[in-house]
Amino acid sequence: MRWSKALIPTHKEDPSDAETTSHKLMIRAGLMRKLTSGIYNYLPLGWRAIRKVEEIVREEMDRAGAQELHMPVVSPAELWKETGRWGILGGELWRVRDRHGRDFALGPTHEEVVTDIVRNEVRSYRELPLNLYQIQTKFRDEVRPRFGVVRAREFMMKDAYSFHRDDESLDETYRAMCDAYTRIFDRCSLTYRPVEAATGSIGGSHSHEFMVLSDTGESEVIVCDCGYAATDERAEGTVPAVGTDEEPADMETVDTPDMRTIEEVSEFLGVEPWRLVKTIIYEVDGRPVAVLVRGDREINEAKLSTALGADVVEAASPEVIAKVTGAPVGFAGPVGLEGVEIIADHTVEPLRNIVVGGNKADVHMRNVNPGRDFTASSFHDIVLINKGDGCPKCGRALSSFRGIEVSQAFKLGTKYSDSMKATFLDEDGVAKPFIMGCYGLGVTRTVAAVIEQHNDENGIAWPRAVAPFTVQVLAVNVRSDEVREVAERIYEELLERGVEVLYDDRNASPGTKFKDADLVGMPLRITVGERGLKKGIVEAKVRATGEQTEIPLDGAADAIERAIETLP
Ligand SMILES: [Zn+2]
Repeated sequence: MRWSKALIPTHKEDPSDAETTSHKLMIRAGLMRKLTSGIYNYLPLGWRAIRKVEEIVREEMDRAGAQELHMPVVSPAELWKETGRWGILGGELWRVRDRHGRDFALGPTHEEVVTDIVRNEVRSYRELPLNLYQIQTKFRDEVRPRFGVVRAREFMMKDAYSFHRDDESLDETYRAMCDAYTRIFDRCSLTYRPVEAATGSIGGSHSHEFMVLSDTGESEVIVCDCGYAATDERAEGTVPAVGTDEEPADMETVDTPDMRTIEEVSEFLGVEPWRLVKTIIYEVDGRPVAVLVRGDREINEAKLSTALGADVVEAASPEVIAKVTGAPVGFAGPVGLEGVEIIADHTVEPLRNIVVGGNKADVHMRNVNPGRDFTASSFHDIVLINKGDGCPKCGRALSSFRGIEVSQAFKLGTKYSDSMKATFLDEDGVAKPFIMGCYGLGVTRTVAAVIEQHNDENGIAWPRAVAPFTVQVLAVNVRSDEVREVAERIYEELLERGVEVLYDDRNASPGTKFKDADLVGMPLRITVGERGLKKGIVEAKVRATGEQTEIPLDGAADAIERAIETLP
């Protein structure tokens, strides 16, 4: 492609709304442009990288025995109502209504649709196992889209769904899909780690995520030297106990004017943050529940949802909080709280002389003692595990890293086939529900993850397998006839050999062209300039390593082809 004819709008400055390296570089290198919040246009360079990842994914899925099909973006509400997810998915499910007033969803995932296909078309155990996948645009109406394509409202995914007669068959496909993911991410030159994950609104018994290591990743992964690894949503562990041996003192009310946060109140009262117990009002399947947790810890909503056996757990609105506690946000507490269930993290039970909100504006209570001054209906493990907590397997201190979740595999069991009455006739003539697995992989996320791991201060340094073009030919000064002729000839010869070449033939300053070459980051740059031509050479530079070599003009295309073979 000739740069002079291409749409590659590069920028010198970082976009103001970008927080992560990949988001900044995808804008600056002209890979994509925001159309509206969380929704992007993929420009030619970005689209080429996406297509490269797609092709790798397709090859590995086919090799693992999955079959590609294509399901619609739009699906009728009736299907989502069969599984209850029309309600459970809440605001994240993007809903549309047609001219006849019928409701539809823009698919965030396709369990319902694919299960509908299979229940209509597959009758016998002889047709199993079956593994179907598609590469498609997905929608999720995020509350706060951020990190570019990593948390977007429209994104591209590969989603596969497998159907089985028994658990052994599911286990086999689950392993084959995890192996395929390993090959895909290896081919994309990613450093990643498979970790145990929460099943969330997809459900099922068992799940793994593949996490690409990145300091600006949106997920935290808890790990131990013994091999334990889980997302922070899923991680278990032991929280160090504090302050259990004090004598209970007399409860008293204290004025805390306009102090709502743990930091403000703990500083004002001169007490450690753990002693302040937070009371957070949740709506659990529509009813308010007060949830207590130590001030130095955060609630894990996935654990909370599991502990309460709930489908939907959402932080209550300020209106609901005011109604339940009689106080503005920031002053909720368990003492005298009526008409609402109180539950607590198990680390709250042994605490003595704690500080809680007074259910009145600008008031807290101190020397409150669980059991004496209020009663929780139950205690559960509901906190997020942090680094430094004890490993659930070996007890040593856990550590953590940040990552981008690029794929997830679930053992769904019969969750969808039961609710949608999807059955097959087994060998014994009995109708049985399909046992299912599902396997998602974020295609646009994977491109962002590649950029997160392959860049420097000058821009992207694409690994060869995912690069929009393999080679960039850079003519330093196109007003020189000799430079232009040599550059054109090398460009044409490489094209004839099937090499993907971006040819910078623009009439622009060398400074601009070199800066842009580093920014868009093709793996091999061939520089054609007057100084080199005097010596009878062109320069080759490997973007990732900075390694430079001189290539004689005679047989240059052959030499460049050989250099491509050794690229990272
Ligand atoms: Zn361990």
